Amino acid sequence: MSRALDIIKNEDFTSDNLVYLLSAEGDERKQIYEKAAEIKDRYVGNKVYFRGLIEFSNICAKNCFYCGIRRDNGTMERYYVNRQEVIQAAEYAWKEGYGSIVIQSGERTDKWFVDQITELLQQIEKATNKELGITLSMGEQSEETFSRWKEAGADRYLLRIEASSKELYHKIHPNDKLHSYDKRLNALKLLQKLDYQTGTGVMVGLPFQTLEHLANDLLFFKNLDIDMAGMGPYIEHEQTPLYQYKDQLMPKKMRFELSLRMVALLRIMMKDVNIAATTAMQTLDDMGREKALKVGANVIMPNLTPVKYREGYLLYEDKPCIDEEAEECKSCLEARIHLAGGEIAYNEQGNPKHYYKRTGKTDK
Ligand code: SAM
Ligand code: SF4
Repeated sequence: MSRALDIIKNEDFTSDNLVYLLSAEGDERKQIYEKAAEIKDRYVGNKVYFRGLIEFSNICAKNCFYCGIRRDNGTMERYYVNRQEVIQAAEYAWKEGYGSIVIQSGERTDKWFVDQITELLQQIEKATNKELGITLSMGEQSEETFSRWKEAGADRYLLRIEASSKELYHKIHPNDKLHSYDKRLNALKLLQKLDYQTGTGVMVGLPFQTLEHLANDLLFFKNLDIDMAGMGPYIEHEQTPLYQYKDQLMPKKMRFELSLRMVALLRIMMKDVNIAATTAMQTLDDMGREKALKVGANVIMPNLTPVKYREGYLLYEDKPCIDEEAEECKSCLEARIHLAGGEIAYNEQGNPKHYYKRTGKTDK
């Protein structure tokens, strides 16, 4: 038996062994992908869950060094999608049987913003008969805000730790109170305490990042006992501070491959979590999301942001589908998913099985 299969069989996921698996090539790499596909099939099946993505606003109080919509990037118009348009997008998702939506935004904690989101959630719940699963991804908030949003209808929250190493985290964020590793970690714990289905993730291929960092990211997810993950390659953006390191990055093809391996290894380590096939994976490889579905991912986020706003949400260069209407996006995805051997789970919320195991609750 190969060393890779031996590690997987014995579930001997030490940091060193994970580095070995992350750097495996040839037959061993193939074996990892086959094992991940097998585990996916056994534990979560071949269903693919849709989450209609609404990029609510690119107004952000933060200044992360990697992100195209950071506060100090003055080269774009700032927007927020008006309430009626968000509700229409949610209704579209509901009627089309998507089962869930994700509302994502730049981070703001002011009262106006928190109230807006609360009211929006209440109206979406009303307009869709409380049948949609609602995920929020709006950065770090207070316990009170997380609670209010949960009460108003949010079920899940995505908050990527971005880099689970404190040292690396601080290299890719400004060194100030607004960008605190401890606060971010605490926010993740709060989400779990408040009974959210909790998701996190990292970017893969960041400047200064090593395979040890990525191995420890996987262990971090496992130790935190997360329910969902979204991981994807880091992609440079010219108007950001990290752009100066662009010549030191690994080639895009390698960043993609490594992201794929992170997906596969997480599926092997945390068998029943939900894992997203992210847009950033599609950016670096036209078949990126399908490849991710084949090795462990089971969630896809078709973009439902009204097209006129999409130019404003360019987190990184070459972001795809910025001029595709929801309907085109849906039919293109349907064909691609079938090709990848997946079955779209229409009219199902697709809550992570892991959440039920972790909390002892029963699935609705
Ligand atoms: N503001 C919220 C937050 O940061 O959690 C949610 C929105 S933020 C735009 C969503 C995710 O985009 C971040 O968690 C980050 O991982 C990802 N992102 C930002 N810039 C990126 C880049 N240059 N390459 C790849 N992913 C990026
Ligand atoms: Fe703002 Fe999120 Fe981008 Fe950071 S990653 S600048 S918090 S939108």
